[in-house]
Amino acid sequence: MKTVSSLLDAHWYERYQRISKLNIRSSIYDVTNRCNLRCKGCFFFSSGEDKAAPEEMHMDAWESFIDREIGRGVNLAILIGGEPTLCLDRVEAFYRRLPTFCATNGLIKVPRDRFPDMMVGISLWGDQADETVLRGKDTFSISSKNYHGDPHAYYLYTITPRQIGHTERIVQKIRDVGLKIHFQLLSNDEGVDGFSWKPGEMKAIQDEMDEMLEKYPDTVISSRYYHEIITTGKMLDRSFGWNECPSVTEPLDTRKPGTKRLIHFIRWASDLKTMHRCCTSETRDCSTCKDGAAHMSWVMVNKRAHMRSRVDIQNWIEVYEMFAKLYQFIPW
Ligand code: SF4
Ligand code: SF4
Repeated sequence: MKTVSSLLDAHWYERYQRISKLNIRSSIYDVTNRCNLRCKGCFFFSSGEDKAAPEEMHMDAWESFIDREIGRGVNLAILIGGEPTLCLDRVEAFYRRLPTFCATNGLIKVPRDRFPDMMVGISLWGDQADETVLRGKDTFSISSKNYHGDPHAYYLYTITPRQIGHTERIVQKIRDVGLKIHFQLLSNDEGVDGFSWKPGEMKAIQDEMDEMLEKYPDTVISSRYYHEIITTGKMLDRSFGWNECPSVTEPLDTRKPGTKRLIHFIRWASDLKTMHRCCTSETRDCSTCKDGAAHMSWVMVNKRAHMRSRVDIQNWIEVYEMFAKLYQFIPW
């Protein structure tokens, strides 16, 4: 039987050992139903998840809920919304208790005296022109001032089809403000004209992401295998979709037979009682889902399948390392 050590040389095995001890158990929390933007294509608002449950307003309820989550084994809280920075007391309740990642549009600066080392993922949808169409605002001009040079922040650059041939300008802009960048692909949940992917464009953007990673390895946090997986929706001989998705809320996961999945993963609504189906939109068609985190997790939970060759297990290690860097379990 092939073992990881038999497939790898000493350098790769050391990299494997560094991540194999991490045992990450994440869950996702809607901190609030409100946002200071209304992006066209926001999965949260477009699927009505903002109306799924009323926000819990009492801080003591948030605190005891988080303690219960830690008791459930969660060791990484991923805060989304709505816009979490509208409710910093709730964010702080997580941050004081466990490793916490906060997704934000970057318009409000997370005060670093209160959250010195909390990882912040700043959303960016395309370039200035795309952002103006999709988000009604050039958020980069504000977020880049708020987070210039921040060692615990990076841009989650959602690439739109209009970005093909233009991603380098964005990578350079982000490098020039001293931040890192991670790529995602727009799912266009609200069908905005001109923002749906056409045949052939996935291959073009895959090649472009590969090129950016090669040219800017100190800025781009990614891997070629991740680019392949999110653009093709294929991993080894399998296709991504409902039957394979690892990021389904565990108590709502009725799939038979079961699949490799994130252990104890739940996405909670902001009433702290309601659960959402998965890490993204309740109404999204799984066959067209481009969610980057779900694809990343898909690779991570399928280590054994990648033990068929040296290249496959190295690809697995690179994706795991990417995830661990993005959530601050290992340094950049
Ligand atoms: S900033 Fe985020 S939560 Fe707010 S509308 Fe845009 S995508 Fe949705
Ligand atoms: S929409 Fe995406 S993340 Fe949600 S269950 Fe379907 S494939 Fe998974």
